[in-house]
Amino acid sequence: MFDVAIVGLGCAGYTAAIYSARYKLDTLIVGETEGGMGITAAEVGNWPGEIDIKGPDLMEKFKAHAVSFDNVTPKVSRIDKIEKNREGFKLTYQNGESDEAKTVIFATGSDKRHLGIPGEDEFSGKGVTYCATCDAFFYKGKDVAVLGGGDSAVEGAAIAAQVANKVYLIHRRSEFRAEPFWVDKVNEKDNIEFVLDTNVTEVIGDQVVIGVKLDKEFNGSDEIAVDGVFIEIGSIPSTQLAEKLGCEVDEQKHLKVGADMATSVKGVFAAGDVSNGSNYFAQFATAAGEGAVAGNGVFNYLQEEGK
Ligand code: NAP
Repeated sequence: MFDVAIVGLGCAGYTAAIYSARYKLDTLIVGETEGGMGITAAEVGNWPGEIDIKGPDLMEKFKAHAVSFDNVTPKVSRIDKIEKNREGFKLTYQNGESDEAKTVIFATGSDKRHLGIPGEDEFSGKGVTYCATCDAFFYKGKDVAVLGGGDSAVEGAAIAAQVANKVYLIHRRSEFRAEPFWVDKVNEKDNIEFVLDTNVTEVIGDQVVIGVKLDKEFNGSDEIAVDGVFIEIGSIPSTQLAEKLGCEVDEQKHLKVGADMATSVKGVFAAGDVSNGSNYFAQFATAAGEGAVAGNGVFNYLQEEGK
């Protein structure tokens, strides 16, 4: 029986593990993807203490720190279900094995939002992808479209422009919500063209992607020929396991947490992009902060409960 099972191998999860380890809690940290969403960040310029570091390198440091403690057990495994039992919680893995823990911290992050337009599913993996910074490298010398106007899309367009011949940044409004830092970067690139106040209505292809259809004309046509379409229109919190346990979500489908990151279910905490903490500001710094608070929350809870 672990003191705490941390679900999620990203920034929030690793930080929670560092804190719970230093509170001398017997800690399990388990998830499917080591590094979580953090590994998709091409350049991280806002992690204090690192002026510029690649997401995968930063997450490798987080992991090395978390697993450096004897009382942290890391596991890469898909969890099928988490159930409440008499002592705490039982985690059952896809391979049928299981673990038990007195408390759980959900640091499950989020999944990329899909657009739901014709051609999107059909050409997924055949030119349509959901991570510009991860996949841009495969489009060297080609023309690509990046959809969205947040940090992911604007950073993605800037990174894609380093290798692609031409990048169309297609956004439904005329203003970007991305950090001005990234907006300046895309403005500096002469191979990025903005297609603003425009929605993509279809991905067109023939075996693979050949273009996108727009809801209004751009340069005299309602189609743009591209080889790749990077859909970067935000994410949906990964709450399935937590919701099955009875954790409440808010109207935006984030897990509701209190100041100590406790969810509505006793003994269950949440941290990072999956929670409704930090004013929904999904950053390395906020995820790490929430992970630290969740580790502390679990420690206080176990003491109060005499566990
Ligand atoms: P986001 O901030 O939610 O932005 C999503 C973008 O997609 C918005 O511009 C939105 O348009 C657009 N969009 C949403 N639904 C759409 C639809 N159905 N059709 C067309 N456009 C649609 O998502 P994100 O950029 O993935 O960022 C998520 C979080 O991660 C944010 O907190 C962000 O700060 C963080 N992040 C940070 C970094 C960094 O610090 N370097 C990098 C990546 C992500 P509207 O603007 O009109 O709403």
